[in-house]
Amino acid sequence: MHGADGVAFDGTAPVLVIGAGACGLTAALAARQAGAEVAVIERDPLPRGNTALSAGLIPAAGTRFQRARGIDDDPARFAADILAKTKGRADPAMVATVTQEAASTIEWLADAARIDFRVLDDFRYPGHSALRMHAAPEGTGEGLLDRLARAAEHADVTLMTDAAVTALFAEDDGRIAGVQVTRPDGSADRVGCGALILACNGFGGNPAMVRAHCPEMADALYFGHPGNRGDAVLWGTALGAATRDMTGYQGHASVAHPHGILITWAVISEGGIQVNLEGRRFADESRGYSEQAVEVLGQPDRLAWVIFDEPIAAVARQFEDFRTAEAAGAVKWAESVPALATATGLPAAALAETLHQVTAFAGGAQACPFGRRFDPRSVLLPPFAAVRVTGALFHTQGGLVVDADARVLRPDGIPLPNLYAGGGAACGLSGPEADGYLSGNGLLTATVLGRLAGRHAAEHFGAREAENAA
Ligand SMILES: Cc1cc2nc3c(=O)[nH]c(=O)nc-3n(C[C@H](O)[C@H](O)[C@H](O)COP(=O)(O)OP(=O)(O)OC[C@H]3O[C@@H](n4cnc5c(N)ncnc54)[C@H](O)[C@@H]3O)c2cc1C
Repeated sequence: MHGADGVAFDGTAPVLVIGAGACGLTAALAARQAGAEVAVIERDPLPRGNTALSAGLIPAAGTRFQRARGIDDDPARFAADILAKTKGRADPAMVATVTQEAASTIEWLADAARIDFRVLDDFRYPGHSALRMHAAPEGTGEGLLDRLARAAEHADVTLMTDAAVTALFAEDDGRIAGVQVTRPDGSADRVGCGALILACNGFGGNPAMVRAHCPEMADALYFGHPGNRGDAVLWGTALGAATRDMTGYQGHASVAHPHGILITWAVISEGGIQVNLEGRRFADESRGYSEQAVEVLGQPDRLAWVIFDEPIAAVARQFEDFRTAEAAGAVKWAESVPALATATGLPAAALAETLHQVTAFAGGAQACPFGRRFDPRSVLLPPFAAVRVTGALFHTQGGLVVDADARVLRPDGIPLPNLYAGGGAACGLSGPEADGYLSGNGLLTATVLGRLAGRHAAEHFGAREAENAA
């Protein structure tokens, strides 16, 4: 953080955004639509971020896309699901704001970025009481990101790539006057701003911060974007902003090892199980993939096998990642339990006993000791499929505390004069633990808070700066 006194800027944007992921591009589109000139600064040569690595699924309740499929859902029900997953540890006011804005954000994005969203209707992620996952037609985060980037370009958003923000310049009252941008060749520019939107995600790519705040993930595979180094939190706290739930994160218990490919959690939701290298189950997999990551990391060699069958694989194949995993040979198939033991190297007797028990749980003959309720219709039948997986950190959920307009707040609740945050830069809706992460919480706050930030920044700073420039 540097003082702004006497600093000259090479150019000025009324609304300046750091980061060209879902949050930054959504914020830029919203600000443009509200009439402001907008510039987005992105470190990478091509916008990608966590967003392009993601499955691209955004939850929203009460959308026209749900109605077209006859799905009954509403924001209050969605908010209740989020609060139940966090056991009430997320901020209820922020949960209410975001869930109320989610449907209009999806519908607005559909129009503004020409995204004909599809609602996933063949399985439900753990904790969602309605079918509400919206996917771009490509069914990938990359497809979503590319559509947002194209829409931003058509809307005349200025996108600076190969441009890392390396410092902020602030007045004594905390007003951000501008930023320093450093290029790969070491040259630097200074860009002034009316308002600054932090859309540069969390600190998953900063090992020291992960160790400090999420120590159980310190030695885990980080499966997110390496450029997310915690800058928003570091700058915000230097300005006196409040942070919250810094120990919260999205883990994932199902990354194919050693292939490094996400195996969709649909394999578990549809009835699959996880066993350790001893052929034994070790937790209730159905609670969610985030909390299960730590369970997998606690097993021998930090590995597990996901076991499922052909009907489940048919559901999983809608995801490109799963098809890639099959093509890469990560999915082993076997016609019988002994053949499965041979294919995986798992101890045959223990594996047979585990699968026998799971059949008994599904039939109601025995209760699962971990408390999972198995659906009687989802008894696993040959041919069996298995993928060796490890647990990983996907992104952090703690961050800067913001208000209902995505303005960054001080600990006393007063907003900093012209600073906004959304997506992984802001505190999420998952509370302080990995088990509070409800699927989709990441892109939910990226898009909703991005839109709120862009709109408010444009309304309050866009016109004023345009007048100043005139
Ligand atoms: C494998 C995987 C699957 C996932 N699937 C889903 C899903 O289906 N649904 C869901 O809701 N969430 C999912 N997530 C989480 C989701 O990806 C993130 O929550 C979301 O993409 C965050 O968006 P963002 O815009 O805040 O950050 P990002 O998309 O990461 O964008 C941040 C950008 O800021 C740039 N940046 C950072 N620092 C600077 C700097 N100093 N200067 C300039 N640029 C900078 C980065 O280069 C990056 O491009 C998944 C995550 C992973 C890893």
